[in-house]
Amino acid sequence: MESFHLVSREYKPEDTVVTVGEVKIGGGHRAYIAGPCSVEDEKQIREIAEGIKGAAHILRGGAFKPRTSPYSFQGLGEAGLRLLKEAGQQVGLPVVTEVVSEQEVELVAGYVDMLQIGARNMQNYALLKKVGAQSKPVLLKRGLAATIEEFLLSAEYILAAGNSQVVLCERGIRTFSGSPTRNTLDLSAVPILRHLTHLPVIVDPSHGTGLWNLVEPLSKAALAAGAHGLMIEVHNHPQEALSDGPQSLKPEKFRMLAGELNALAQFLDEQSAGGKAWKV
Ligand code: PEP
Ligand code: MN
Repeated sequence: MESFHLVSREYKPEDTVVTVGEVKIGGGHRAYIAGPCSVEDEKQIREIAEGIKGAAHILRGGAFKPRTSPYSFQGLGEAGLRLLKEAGQQVGLPVVTEVVSEQEVELVAGYVDMLQIGARNMQNYALLKKVGAQSKPVLLKRGLAATIEEFLLSAEYILAAGNSQVVLCERGIRTFSGSPTRNTLDLSAVPILRHLTHLPVIVDPSHGTGLWNLVEPLSKAALAAGAHGLMIEVHNHPQEALSDGPQSLKPEKFRMLAGELNALAQFLDEQSAGGKAWKV
C-alpha cells in the first residue's frame, strides 16, 4: 500500500510547531482549546469566553454543525462565525471552528484563526484539498472508524496541497461500546502518532467519552501519554445546551482542571516524559 510521506518523521525528524494567532502547539508547546460545542447566541459565547479566559489558549465554538439528525440544531452559520470572532477578540483569544463543506472554506477562513475538519469529514478529500490550498492552520479530527494510517493519509492530503500547519486530534473511535461512553478514546494513538509523525497531536476527551465527569481523568491521561494539548467542550449552562451538554464542563470546573493540567505538564517536563516521542 502506498503510504504517507510528507507527514512522516522520516521526512521531517523534528516536531512541527503550529501557530494559531500567537499560540504555539507542538514541540515543547502545549495548548488547551475550550468552548461550547455550538455558538448559540451572543450572551452564551461571550460568557463562556470570559469564563475560560486565562486558562484556555484558543476559543472554540461550532457555527456549521455536522449533526447526526437533520432535526437537531444545525448551528447559526455565518452569524455564529461573527459572534465567535467577536467573543475571541473580546478576551484576546484566537478562535477555531469547524468547516463542513468545501464551498464554505473561504467564508469560514475569513472569520477564524484555525479551521477544524470534523471526524465525519476526515475522508472528505475535496474538503481536505481545499483547506490544504489556503494558509490558515487546520485541526484534523480522527474519523470515527479510521485507522492510524488512514488518519495520517488524510493529513497527507492537506500537506500535499501546500499547508503544513496541521494539528491531529484523537477524539474517540467506534467500538462495540457506545454505552455509557459515546466513543472509545484511543489514547494509544497519541504515542503511536508521536512516533510516526512530526505533526502535533492533541486529544478531545469530550467527544471521546460523551460524559463530562470523564473529561478530567482522560485529559490527565492524554497529557501523560504525550499529547500536545486538549480540546474540551465548556458550556455555562450544560443542561440547556443545544448540543453536547452532557459532555460539557462548566467554566469554573474547566479553570480548575487547567490548573491541575499545568501542574501535571510541569511534572512531565521535569521527568522529560510528556515531550517525548515514545518508541513503539
Ligand atoms: C466538534 O468538535 O464539535 C465535533 C463535532 O467533533 P467530532 O467531529 O470529533 O465529532
Ligand atoms: Mn460537540
